[in-house]
Amino acid sequence: MKHLIGLQAYDIRIKEKLAQKEKGPAAMQKRKEDLAAAEALLQEEIDKLGAHNSLSRETEREIQDLDERLKKSEGKLSSIKSNKEYKAALKEIEGIKREKEALEITVIEMMEQKDALVNACDDNRKKTEEMKQKFDQDLKQILRDMKILDKDLKELEKERDRCCKGTDTSLLKKYDILRGHRNGIAITPVIKGVCQACHMAIPPQKFNELIRGDKLMNCPNCARIMYWGEDERYQDDEEAT
Ligand SMILES: [Zn+2]
Repeated sequence: MKHLIGLQAYDIRIKEKLAQKEKGPAAMQKRKEDLAAAEALLQEEIDKLGAHNSLSRETEREIQDLDERLKKSEGKLSSIKSNKEYKAALKEIEGIKREKEALEITVIEMMEQKDALVNACDDNRKKTEEMKQKFDQDLKQILRDMKILDKDLKELEKERDRCCKGTDTSLLKKYDILRGHRNGIAITPVIKGVCQACHMAIPPQKFNELIRGDKLMNCPNCARIMYWGEDERYQDDEEAT
């Protein structure tokens, strides 16, 4: 029985370590996704800035075109003979000037927008870079932790094997089957007549039999192997493991 209690303690610790081992990669996966999202957002902003820049160059070119048209139209003025044509030419020049002014206002507005875009890009580039550095650091730490967990697990498995060797094989088989069916817990203390695994009271007569401790007994409710939890022989053992 003592061996089984020891074995159960090892198995609980092994289960805990395995659960811890699973947490690391899950946490890193989440972080990886967050980082990818930040990088995608940064790329979006870079693209936006690029589109803005080409639109801005386009507008500057339009202004240049208007300037040339203006020069041409003004150059023609001196060769115009009729009053009517002259008026029409002046009207055209006015139109070009208004168009140019409107575009120049747009250019100024675009310059202000560009500043905001550049700032947003810089901020996000910095943030993403920091995130990436932290990610790399944490990844290293998690890999280190995993190595330690692996070492602990190996050590625990070794101790568990040693424990198994001292235990009766048929009992070990029962223990393993129960462990598989009962969420990893095959053996349970009964304290003050209550099974500590399923929290059901066992009949007093059975409890008395258990205290005598001369045979292997299972909880009538959850079927786990029972031992008397207040027995001093086991108390020391529990503290030691
Ligand atoms: Zn029970």
